[in-house]
Amino acid sequence: MEQNNKKVIVSLKDIFVKFDGEVILNNINLDIREKEFVTILGPSGCGKTTTLRIIGGFVEPDSGDIIFDGERINGLPPHKRNVNTVFQKYSLFPHLNVFDNVAFGLKLKKVPKAEIKRKVLKMLAIVDLKGYEKRSVAKLSGGQQQRVAIARALVCDPEIILLDEPLGALDLKLRKSMQLELKEIQQQTEKTFIYVTHDQEEALTMSDRVVVMNNGVIEQIGTPEDIYNEPVNAFVADFIGEANILNGVMIDDCRVRILGKELRCVDKGFGTNTPVDVVIRPEDMIITTPEDGQLIGKVENVTFKGVHYEMSVRVGKCEILVHSTDSAELGSTVGLKVIPFNIQIMNKLLPISSNTIETTVTYSNEAEQYFEFELEDETVNVPKKYFPEGSRVRIHLPFDALSITGEGDGDLKDVYIESVVYKGEHNEIILESDERKWLMLSDTDEQVATYVPLYFDFGKASFELMSDGEEETS
Ligand code: ATP
Repeated sequence: MEQNNKKVIVSLKDIFVKFDGEVILNNINLDIREKEFVTILGPSGCGKTTTLRIIGGFVEPDSGDIIFDGERINGLPPHKRNVNTVFQKYSLFPHLNVFDNVAFGLKLKKVPKAEIKRKVLKMLAIVDLKGYEKRSVAKLSGGQQQRVAIARALVCDPEIILLDEPLGALDLKLRKSMQLELKEIQQQTEKTFIYVTHDQEEALTMSDRVVVMNNGVIEQIGTPEDIYNEPVNAFVADFIGEANILNGVMIDDCRVRILGKELRCVDKGFGTNTPVDVVIRPEDMIITTPEDGQLIGKVENVTFKGVHYEMSVRVGKCEILVHSTDSAELGSTVGLKVIPFNIQIMNKLLPISSNTIETTVTYSNEAEQYFEFELEDETVNVPKKYFPEGSRVRIHLPFDALSITGEGDGDLKDVYIESVVYKGEHNEIILESDERKWLMLSDTDEQVATYVPLYFDFGKASFELMSDGEEETS
């Protein structure tokens, strides 16, 4: 609550950005409050840095407003904004010592010498580099160089510090200790920190609020607890910590069916018999005797992780991850139980009807039994099926009729992998072509934010001749 009482210092309103005709930021709306530590989190290429650069003044949006302290600042150059940026590559001046690196901005502003000295020494004390003034920055460790860069950004007293993966170049141990130090520095200096990372643990450790981005949109904004405990969809659940994400059907309020069993939950308002995604965190799965379990499965893997055991239990075809301080015997049959409060219900990322194509036959050959239609400027050939030219056809492709490996260039040549979510049995993959999204299952790991060809197996499709005058539904 306290957070909400603080003044909004910077707002992004309806921000759109296109690079080379491609939408990079798609309607970003974000309010950041003073003294807040906000982290923008998301996979590579989702638009985090671009969002930061818009606040910093290095990128101008195609449309939308940037409001700073109540005033629209679109077009204002970076040095006139009350913000300072710390980059991953520290961009220190190698020929200057620590003091002169930190003092650089103040000297440019012609601040009196005595004041520069006072400010620089104060800032070096805050970043734990007291006594390092005369050292050459080239001889400092990565962590120390990073602290010099932070001191340099803070010394000019900007309202907002932008940090773009500033710990990216450090090793894991140093990263962890710098995370805590950064949080301390932010609290001590009472500045607004806007931090970009693709590391969810880093985001959860440091932030007052986390902004989860995917493919140019904000999926969720919340406290670390909110986004971990109440993810709004499978993408967020998967990205934040470990999770069992399962296909389910909401039978009615507070009743969900997963893995063939009806379980009680606390969610309401999803309607009746609605396909949903269900999240159960591994630490919320309780191992019981087979008789007491809501689900029954076989223990396939047990690994000791220091504090808990990590176990994989096969329930039907599905692999369920369990974290528990007690271990179960490898190969044994166990029960699994989960209390209703720990079952999180979410709307599916895409509706079940997403792979339906409604089209007109552009060419067909009755003797050889095939037809063609146009899809996003490509001609798609459907073998072993005939409809007369000009007929309107609805084609439904089940998830397993889509694949990204095959012969030739693909039915669609360049499709973007937007998200990959493991559902205990397969990866559920959302693909984006020029005009629409597609849902595909895959047994292999695919790389998000890459372009792949998309192949359709029309042998698995169902076809429906649309009657005259029937409206398109997609
Ligand atoms: P990463 O974690 O890899 O840095 P990110 O989430 O910060 O990724 P951005 O750097 O914001 O992502 O980039 C988003 C998309 O915009 C990427 O596909 C990138 O290739 C593209 N992009 C970024 N800057 C430019 C530019 N100046 N011109 C063209 N495309 C760009």
